[in-house]
Amino acid sequence: MTESTATRIDGAAFAARLRAEVTRKTALLHEREGIAPGLAVVLVGEDPASEVYVRNKGKMTIEAGMNSWQHRLPDTATQAQLLQVVANLNADPAVDGILVQLPLPDQIDADAVIHAIDPDKDVDGFHVVNAGRLATGLPAMVPCTPLGCLMLLKDHLGDLSGMKAVVIGRSNIVGKPMAQLLLKESCTVTIAHSRTRDLAAECRQADIIIAAVGRPRMVKADWVKPGAVVIDVGINRVRMADGKLKLVGDVDYDAVAAVAGAITPVPGGVGPMTIACLLNNTLEAACRRRGLAVPA
Ligand code: NAD
Repeated sequence: MTESTATRIDGAAFAARLRAEVTRKTALLHEREGIAPGLAVVLVGEDPASEVYVRNKGKMTIEAGMNSWQHRLPDTATQAQLLQVVANLNADPAVDGILVQLPLPDQIDADAVIHAIDPDKDVDGFHVVNAGRLATGLPAMVPCTPLGCLMLLKDHLGDLSGMKAVVIGRSNIVGKPMAQLLLKESCTVTIAHSRTRDLAAECRQADIIIAAVGRPRMVKADWVKPGAVVIDVGINRVRMADGKLKLVGDVDYDAVAAVAGAITPVPGGVGPMTIACLLNNTLEAACRRRGLAVPA
């Protein structure tokens, strides 16, 4: 059995602190301006994982002192019906953030729905306008998961300037915005993906590895430079020998923890940061829409 030498980056604790900060600032905004930020979540169908996410988001939004609304449509809903819900939320002045829970049923074009959201209320940061703003260095709504990863990295490493980062995965939700954020921090960034030749060799060069693939325990110990910081975004449910389901990341945690300088666990690493960043984005959206600074 190899011994863990890496620092375990406690995303759950960081997320709890961030939520407390957002709660404090939300109370100040209410006190000074009489404004309570509001987040509307739209759920289509009854996907059990989405149900859990939406319930948690609603609970934590209320705990932060914000307004929370849920709009539910059946899994037979048409694209026109969903677009109408989005249009109503765009027009509602009490709504600061709109989140359409993904995945959507097959009959609905997710891109069309995302691009119907007012970019200034797009707290998921998936709208092409926000992707463009992020890529060109303008103030943007930044996707919550990569934003959470960046916060953990900066908390652990401080200045990231000049570091070599490898992002595994090129999705619009995680990989690409993660790479943009690291580039903004002056990292030298490599985006690896399913067609990358010799992924292990790419990873071995990295001071920072972000794994966002969706393949259980794919990143092995001999892919990691001693002392590197490893952020595991992956969420995979695997069946264990005893028949029980277990949540594991994209990183072979125990083995990699013996080599890395620091590593996020799954669960308890990146996952809790995503909702905390969603609340942070909702507060920012509420202030930005009204031309106010976020209370200090
Ligand atoms: P995705 O399926 O959209 O993208 C996966 C990416 O991995 C693709 O770009 C693909 O090119 C790459 N890939 C696939 N096989 C590969 C291989 N063998 N080698 C290298 N790259 C490969 O997934 P996503 O939405 O970006 O999510 C990635 C993972 O992160 C999933 O496990 C997902 O559940 C998890 N996730 C977690 C959070 C969170 O809050 N912690 C949020 C979003 C996604």
